[in-house]
Parts: sequence; C-alpha cells; structure tokens
Amino acid sequence: MTIFKSRHPRIDIPTDLTTWDWLFDSKKYSPIQKYPEFELAGYTNAVTKDRLNWKDVKQNATWFSTALVKQYGFQPGETISLFSRNTIWYPVSMFGANRVGGVVSGASPAYNVEEMAYALKTAQSKFLMTSPTSMDVAAAAAKEAGLPRENIILLEGELKGYKTIHDLITIGKGYGEQGQTPAFKNPPGKKNNDICGFLSFSSGTTGLPKAVMISHQNVIAQCLQILQIAPPDLRKVLAVLPLFHITGLVHQLHFPILFNAEVFMTPTFTMKILLDTVTQNDIRELLLVPPIIIRLVRDPLVSKYDLSRILRFSSGAAPLSAEILQQLQQKFPHTSFKQGYGMTESCSCITAHPTDKYDYRYAHTGGAIVANTEVKIIGDDGSEVGVGEPGEILARGPQIVMGYLGNEKATRETFDADGWLHTGDRGSIDEEGMLTISDRIKELIKVKGIGVAPAELEDLLLAHPKIEDVAVLGMPDDYSGELPKAYVVLRPGVRESQDIGREILKFVMGKKTRYKWVREVEFVKEIPKSASGKILRRVLRDKAKSEQDRG
Ligand code: AMP
Repeated sequence: MTIFKSRHPRIDIPTDLTTWDWLFDSKKYSPIQKYPEFELAGYTNAVTKDRLNWKDVKQNATWFSTALVKQYGFQPGETISLFSRNTIWYPVSMFGANRVGGVVSGASPAYNVEEMAYALKTAQSKFLMTSPTSMDVAAAAAKEAGLPRENIILLEGELKGYKTIHDLITIGKGYGEQGQTPAFKNPPGKKNNDICGFLSFSSGTTGLPKAVMISHQNVIAQCLQILQIAPPDLRKVLAVLPLFHITGLVHQLHFPILFNAEVFMTPTFTMKILLDTVTQNDIRELLLVPPIIIRLVRDPLVSKYDLSRILRFSSGAAPLSAEILQQLQQKFPHTSFKQGYGMTESCSCITAHPTDKYDYRYAHTGGAIVANTEVKIIGDDGSEVGVGEPGEILARGPQIVMGYLGNEKATRETFDADGWLHTGDRGSIDEEGMLTISDRIKELIKVKGIGVAPAELEDLLLAHPKIEDVAVLGMPDDYSGELPKAYVVLRPGVRESQDIGREILKFVMGKKTRYKWVREVEFVKEIPKSASGKILRRVLRDKAKSEQDRG
C-alpha cells in the first residue's frame, strides 16, 4: 500500500480559533497584535488607491457585524452571499459575517438571474451584498429565491431604496464600544472544523454545481501550509483573480493578512490595469491563472512596460502547456516559476512548489504535497500505485472540506469514509515527490480557470424542443484552456443544419453567462452511454481526439 506523505515538517494547526480570532485577535498569528499600526499592510484598490489596513478592516467589520445582528437579526450559521467584483469592502463584509458566526458564499459577478437565484437557493442565503452594476440581476434573483428586498445591501456605490455597507457600519458604530456584538466562539464540544465559514460553488467530479462547505479550520490549515513554504520576499500580493473563487478566498483575502503583505485589488481586469498595478506598486510575485499568463507572452502591450523587477510567476486553477511555459521563460528569463494544484474541495492546494523548486525545470509539475497532507494514486485496476505510476489522485489532510451542503449522496461519493477526497484528476508522483497532473477524468470543463459543469449545460439543452439527447465536453482552446462543445442528437424528424446549430448556440447564450456558452455543436446519431445510462465521455473524447489527429 503506497501512501505518499508530505515531506515537510508537520505543522501545528489551531483547532479552537475561528478565522476571526486567528487573524485579528490571536497574539501568535494576528499582525494587529504583532506590529505597530504604521507597519500594518492592508487592502488597496489599485485603481482608486482607497486603502484599509488590517486594523481598519477589523474595526469596520466589527461595526458591520453588530448592525447585521442587532438590526437584521442575523444568526450564527446563516449565510450571506457576496455577488460583486473585487473591492476592498468585500473582505469587510466577509470578515464581518464570519465574526458573528455567519457563513459567506461568494458568487461570480458574471452570473445571470437564473444562476444567481440557483446560488442563493443552494446556499440558503439570507442576505445578498452586491454593487449597483449587478443590482438588476441581484434584485430579480433575490425575488426568485424569496429574499426580502431589505436584505439586499450594497457593497459599493449607492442606489435609492437600498442600504449600503457604510450605512450598516454607521449603525454598528452607533452602539459604542461596549455595545458591539461579541465575536462568535465555537460552541462547547465543537472544534473549528465543525463550523462552516464559507460556501463556494463547485460541481466536483459530476453533476450540477454544489455548495462546498469550507470550515474555519480548512482555511486556517491551508494558510499555514502555504506560510510554511512562502518565500520571504513576498511583501505584496496582486489580487486580479476573482474573490469568489477558492484561490481568491485563500490567497488574496486570508493569507496576506497572516503574512502582513499588502493586497492590490483590481476592480476589473484589463492587461493595462494589471501591468500598471504591477509596475506602479513594484509587485514582484504575480499570482495568475493560465489565460492571463498566455496574454503576458502574447499581448504586444506587455513590451511597453519594464517588467524586469518581477521575480516570479505563480499559477494555478488549470493546466499550463509546456509551450507557454517555455515562451514565458524566454520572454522573462530573469524570473522563476511556481504553481499550486488543488480544488475548491481541498480549500485550494494539495500540492505546491517548495522554495527550492521554483526553477522552470519543475514548472510543469503541480508541486510537492503540502504539510500534514497525504496523497494516494489509484491505478486503473483500482489498486494504489507507487512512484511514477499514473492514476486518480486522492488526498487527505486538514484542508479537505466538510462536504456539500444538503447533498449527502455527492458528499459520500467524493469524500470516502476514510477521509480521502477523490479529486477526479489523474497524475503521478516522482522520486522527488513532485506531482504531475496528466489528465482530468471527471466531468468538468475549465474555462479560463473557472469550472463549468457539463451537467448544467446538458440539463439546459435537453429542454430545447429539437434536442433528443446531448453530451457536453470541454474542447481544448489556446487561450481559454477549454471551451464547451455540445454533441447533439436531434429529435426524430428534425434535419441537421447550420441554422439549427446556430439556434442551439443562441439558446445557451440567452440562458447562461458568457463563460458557459457552448462554442460548437456537433450532430451525432447517439450519445454513447453505459448500461446504467451514464454518458461515456471518454468515448466522445477519444473520438474528438482521433478526428483532431487526422486533421
Ligand atoms: P476548482 O474547484 O475550480 O479550483 O477546480 C479544481 C480543478 O482544476 C482541479 O480538480 C483540476 O482539474 C484543475 N486544476 C487546478 N489546479 C491545477 C493545476 N495546477 N494544473 C492542472 N489542473 C489544475
């Protein structure tokens, strides 16, 4: 039996602290308790330069949370959804809700009404925080999910008829120092691994998007695992990745506080904003995802900037091709490279590059197993395989999440009785302990690093009056990594034509947000299925690959 263990020394992970106690109150961990105020880093809006240091975050989050409890009757265990682009007020509301035992659910600002309503219902949200530009969607989704209008609060900007986070902060402040609601503590007999702090969406290995329950301990453990291997030169963090995704939640919102590193948030993403932010603020390590790295090697705008101060690129969330890695190294020969591999269900990293492996020689790997974590590789015959042999990656450790909210069946299928997370990714571990991810066996399409569930698109397409059966797969795309493609069996009597193909593409465009759009339709006679009716995606994938090889 081969269990690959982390080669890093074990770390102590507090089991009693909430994330709030840990980051803002604990003598051992909180920068507020360790440094004088003028040395405290914080969150900066890279465009407007608005800034909150950790003490400001703590203060505002305390007032906000008091207003939530005293004015709105917010209870521990209740959920608040954050539906917004990146803003420095996002963490204020997140920490505020967590401070009083609330659960925070991030939602993509790209969601349409249907998607947002699904997110609100699945996460059982009681409150929704958003911005004026998303209000149309937010208000309609809240109505559909049965959320009262007063429970929609603006995270930035102003709109008639809606309260803002600043209104709540003022209300909370009005209760005075003595009147603040005390911070939530784990109830007697409960540890921080029993308390859910976050709900992030992921479709896991199969089916529709599910609300992943992430405990306070999961986040604390992951940050301490990353801290153990963090380079000491990391003083500034670039926050261009969306905050609702697990990478943003861990590496842009929580970890920088622990490390007292300044976070530069960009409200929107353009290459110009990214390059300006990096050069104006002398950011030396860039946390990115593959599509942005591809832009860095291809976009002519890049050559107008002096990027010689960049020390290192950091990538995750999706695979990066050997070709792009080579181009990156050629274009920025003075840099090194690292990446992390994991998923929402592992609260980010299962593996990550240790400091002695930042060299481009190791760039194609997902790194080494982080502390307190074990990995098993299950070969094709179902047995555990050894060094260098490929199979499905299973992981166990303190960052593995609690399960899926309200979905015991999927929880049992993904997290087995012995605590192993079945990742649905295929890979192998070499003699140096580095993991190489070779394939994805689960039903997941990754568009620009964000997961798209084939089942969600298949459910939608099956409702189209001309479609008899359908399977959706990811097809490789140079820039986005993958894009959804639909294999369609038409209803009897409906003739294949380009018009119907276009009609199907348009149908999805009308119902789903842009990154989920189907980009190609192929008509087939039947969808290959197993005896139990499961789509045999491998058969379709192999067919697509052999067609591609034939040119
Ligand atoms: P998510 O839950 O959105 O973070 O998606 C997790 C999935 O993204 C993993 O199960 C992998 O399939 C893929 N993934 C994450 N990190 C990497 C990486 N470094 N290289 C290749 N694929 C990755």
